[in-house]
Amino acid sequence: MENSERDIEVLEMVYKALEEDRVKVFYQPQFEPKNCTLVSAEALCRIENEYHEIILPGNFIPVLEKQRDPEAIRRFDWVVFTKVCRFLCRLRSYGMKLLPISVNLSRRHLTSDPSEHYLSTTANTMKIPHRYLGVEITESAAEDDPLELQRLIYKIRMQGFRVAIDDFGTGQSNFKFLIDNYVDIIKLDKSFISHNCEDPHEQVVVAGVIHIAKMLGMTVVAEGVEDIRQWNFLRDHNCDLIQGFSMGEPFTEDEFIDFYHGNGDI
Ligand code: C2E
Ligand code: MG
Ligand code: MG
Repeated sequence: MENSERDIEVLEMVYKALEEDRVKVFYQPQFEPKNCTLVSAEALCRIENEYHEIILPGNFIPVLEKQRDPEAIRRFDWVVFTKVCRFLCRLRSYGMKLLPISVNLSRRHLTSDPSEHYLSTTANTMKIPHRYLGVEITESAAEDDPLELQRLIYKIRMQGFRVAIDDFGTGQSNFKFLIDNYVDIIKLDKSFISHNCEDPHEQVVVAGVIHIAKMLGMTVVAEGVEDIRQWNFLRDHNCDLIQGFSMGEPFTEDEFIDFYHGNGDI
């Protein structure tokens, strides 16, 4: 697909941000719903533009992903991954307990390049045990090349990193996916859980998916939890972890450290 004028502007903005180290990583906590314990976090990229405005990934990730050369998005994702490793080093340098952090990997990592080597080389250089790092791949990546996705998941898990399936429930073949792949975490897409949680069909489906995932030994994370009713509903249906605006917007590094510190984990 050809780049529009806007795409070219976006690409220039991203490359300049990479050069000038204006790619930022925000962190959204994931909690155990029963006791509100902070357990893990997801890394979400942003770009700080020249006017110090924060640009959300929806404005540039799709443009990077649609480039013919997958190097554009790969390079970006590796910058984010490296920053997350540095962040874990920072927590360690403060004497704080490390907690698992997952990064989003584009489906464009499915093609040939040995992504798992980059993950382990970077983590090993910074002496971060692999269990503290995870990757999130959207379920819809299986539509591109299900076998290649299966292979990538296997290789990444063999290196000791966690693999999460992101936006579960929005793709085409959810249950077949669960048969074909073993992953550590299933992230229930926010579209699964309405605000009032009163629809009996929704209740049965959410409870059923949580049950199936648990029977398969997977952890279930509900995404996009915005209010207390959803939180209680998910807690009552044994959802393992909850992530969403109910506990605020994703944090900057410093905000996350303050929050984590305040949660009594140091
Ligand atoms: P995602 O991985 O599914 O991340 C969750 C998105 O939902 C985030 O949007 C987050 O800010 C937002 N969110 C969190 N809680 C709530 C809530 O309670 N309600 C609602 N309505 N939304 C909530 P964000 O940060 O704009 O990221 C959008 C997408 O961009 C991500 O979806 C992910 O697919 C992609 N992305 C983010 N960072 C990276 C990255 O470093 N690399 C790649 N390849 N993609 C990334
Ligand atoms: Mg994600
Ligand atoms: Mg998601």
